[in-house]
Amino acid sequence: MSAPIVSNDAAPLVEARGLTKHYPVGGGFFAREKLVVRALDGVDLALRPGETLGIVGESGCGKSTLGRCLLRLVEPTAGEVRFDGRDVLTLPAADLRRMRRAMQIIFQDPYASLNPRMRVGAIVAEGIEVHGLAEGAEKRRRVEELLRQVGLGSEHADRYPHEFSGGQRQRIGIARALAVGPRFIVADEPVSALDLSIQAQVLNLLMDLQEQMGLAYLFISHDLRVVEHISHRVAVMYLGRIVERAPRALLYANPRHPYTRALLAAVPVADPRHRPVRAPLQGDVPSPLKPPSGCSFHPRCPYAEPRCRSDVPALVEGAGGHAVACHVFPAPTE
Ligand code: SF4
Repeated sequence: MSAPIVSNDAAPLVEARGLTKHYPVGGGFFAREKLVVRALDGVDLALRPGETLGIVGESGCGKSTLGRCLLRLVEPTAGEVRFDGRDVLTLPAADLRRMRRAMQIIFQDPYASLNPRMRVGAIVAEGIEVHGLAEGAEKRRRVEELLRQVGLGSEHADRYPHEFSGGQRQRIGIARALAVGPRFIVADEPVSALDLSIQAQVLNLLMDLQEQMGLAYLFISHDLRVVEHISHRVAVMYLGRIVERAPRALLYANPRHPYTRALLAAVPVADPRHRPVRAPLQGDVPSPLKPPSGCSFHPRCPYAEPRCRSDVPALVEGAGGHAVACHVFPAPTE
């Protein structure tokens, strides 16, 4: 199964410009230098209805911060977020609460995100109650319908989260997100905690729901195979910035940025004789407290030139919507 077809003419549902999140840390009262973690550093993106944008990168690259800033679960330091044309970051609290119905999140650890003392029916019904969408028999009917949509039965409503497998718990998390009728879902490593065979079932469920309901997904994962399966477009992040963004087929067939190429070289392949010949990643991600000057990937990049140490490469879009931030390997022109 591949990702459902999405219209290229549709106006963006979610847009971000220059999205930035810096966390001041430590330093103390007498410290001469104020320290700042640059978790997110000027990210631009646009997402259309029915589209999945995959976000990949090593841990600590800012993927989850990006998802939370888009939903305003974390207040960005700077930048702009628009949902359906409305400025999310300046919305008063009451309007934001209403908008939250349309913007939901699915978490990585389905067990930790479900209250162990609540029955599944009550967990799924919570959003329906908070937003006053239904009560009594109608609420019960909606919960049963949601459980059925995610492949569970109405009998599961009276059970507790610990009575379910990991895959079933993630289905409950998806039902909870769907309960309030969202249009945009941030899926933050939603299958990382699941066995391989269960991963495919949950991914296919997400794609079915997208086709039925026209949902837009920001799909965050460190696993490039999973992202390839579900995404229409993919953005690669490194130290709080997008370094490459392209339609899925272009990115996997012709990765340009040395970081993307190194990530792909590290993906396990069924037959090692067919492993692409690309330089694997060396070293660790530098601290976002003191990101390297110029291109922040330069200490790990085998192609670094003198200008890479001083000049920050801009993310420039070339042919086919393929954008790259690199001095040496720019976006393709045809
Ligand atoms: Fe490597 Fe330079 Fe490109 Fe950065 S800008 S990825 S250091 S070649």
